[in-house]
Amino acid sequence: MASSKYIFVTGGVVSSLGKGIISASIGKLLQARGYKITIQKFDPYINIDPGTLNPYEHGECYVTADGMETDLDLGHYERFTGIRTTRHNSMTTGRIYKAVIDKERSGEYLGHTIQVVPHITDEIKRRIKYLGDTQGYDFVITEIGGTIGDIESAPFLEAMRQMKWEMGRDAVSIHLTYVPYIKAADELKTKPTQHSVKELLGDGIQPDILILRTEKHLDDHLRAKVAGFCNVDLECVIQSEDLPSIYEVPVNMQKQGLDAAILRKMGIPVGETPQLGEWNRFLAMRRKATETVNIGLVGKYDLQDAYKSISESLSHAATYNDRKVNITFINSELLEDTDDSAWDTVHSQDGLVICPGFGQRGITGKILAAKYARENDIPCFGICLGMQMMVIEFARDVLGYTDADSTEMNPDTQHNVIDLMKEQKTVTQMGGTMRLGEYPCEIRPGSRAFQAYGGQTDILERHRHRYEFNNRYRDEYEREGMQCVGINPDSDLVEMVEIPALRWYIGTQFHPEYSSTVLRPHPLFMSFIKAAISK
Ligand code: GLN
Repeated sequence: MASSKYIFVTGGVVSSLGKGIISASIGKLLQARGYKITIQKFDPYINIDPGTLNPYEHGECYVTADGMETDLDLGHYERFTGIRTTRHNSMTTGRIYKAVIDKERSGEYLGHTIQVVPHITDEIKRRIKYLGDTQGYDFVITEIGGTIGDIESAPFLEAMRQMKWEMGRDAVSIHLTYVPYIKAADELKTKPTQHSVKELLGDGIQPDILILRTEKHLDDHLRAKVAGFCNVDLECVIQSEDLPSIYEVPVNMQKQGLDAAILRKMGIPVGETPQLGEWNRFLAMRRKATETVNIGLVGKYDLQDAYKSISESLSHAATYNDRKVNITFINSELLEDTDDSAWDTVHSQDGLVICPGFGQRGITGKILAAKYARENDIPCFGICLGMQMMVIEFARDVLGYTDADSTEMNPDTQHNVIDLMKEQKTVTQMGGTMRLGEYPCEIRPGSRAFQAYGGQTDILERHRHRYEFNNRYRDEYEREGMQCVGINPDSDLVEMVEIPALRWYIGTQFHPEYSSTVLRPHPLFMSFIKAAISK
């Protein structure tokens, strides 16, 4: 296409409606029509990035290949579309303001008063158009976090209003709202949607397309009512009913003509509806799978969004192994109190994932879970902090260093099997200073990891950590049966360990969960699930 087109996705009434899934689905559907797309998220909070945020606030922190700590919605974008996002796909109010203030300090504004309009809004627009203008995407989909009416999102909406005004039909606005069902009256209520659209109109934005989240089917009468009250064409009132899986959403959106409606609004010929062949095959496998594989996630955050990418990666891999995955969260702190029911849950799993994390809380439970898996030969996957706990457990129990630890937990340990990297020792700022993003790793031929990766020896995986395996202990580990099978060829850092004598006991310093997608499940998750189902 001659010039890039822009699609804005906003949400109203309540949060957690699944704007990320809708944005990812739009991306998927346009991609299926042969367009080059990207998806970007604006978060209205003031943090520079979510890297320093507690997962209880906004769920997991996702990491792009180029090392940006971002909102978890970028994970959905990559999993749905297979695109690779970068630091340009994730923005926060904090980053925008910082850029503007830095420019002010360096005198770039030539004596002008710096204001939200036009300086902040221009900076926002610049960062939206950057993807279209310099990266050559046909469509840039921009999801605006938060809910319409929030004070924080006002500058983003103003930037969007201006872009719509400047670009005419090359920019469309999609608004996602909620239609509650009132049980006592047995009625679906559209009033909150009408109010939300009014609020948007107050910001000078007429939505082109409405997507109504609903637990019950909306009949044509209700859709027509919404269309009439909100100045939206009937074919542009789409409903997003609860579905058994988020991966059904693109198909449901296509059935209702969402992608066609977008193209029509933009004056682009619609043409034939593309087949979602591979995607539908994935869905068919999912629907067909009846047997389950039980995976326990041993972690400290009792919140499903905290381990989003891990759960999705397990789910992709289970589908390709003709299984439904049954994921049970196991609070590692309860394992420390030898809570019988928590241990019963551990004992009933086909495989365990020892989750990533930071800080002291819950690590003893993770070590105990790693020990249980090692001693009972239960398939066990340690990710980042999870791998570090496998390494500590092995040192304490097999190498005989009872005080072995990570210096993150005990700076004075005599046996610092996990330690800070040299360059991290002088770091004083917390945000954005970890080992972040993609690094190469060389896999030892013949290892279980090598088999999992289908015989590949050179891989790239994404990182997010400060601490590392201490190479002083490498030979001892190797001698005693824990092999360092993945090594960074540039820094010689250990990236993967495994115990070959066990069925599947692998720890990765990197985060493979960030790069599993629907159509390309991650090889380590695939082989972990295979091991978990082969008793
Ligand atoms: N806290 C550990 C480190 O910084 C592990 C981090 C993680 O699990 N992402 O090295």
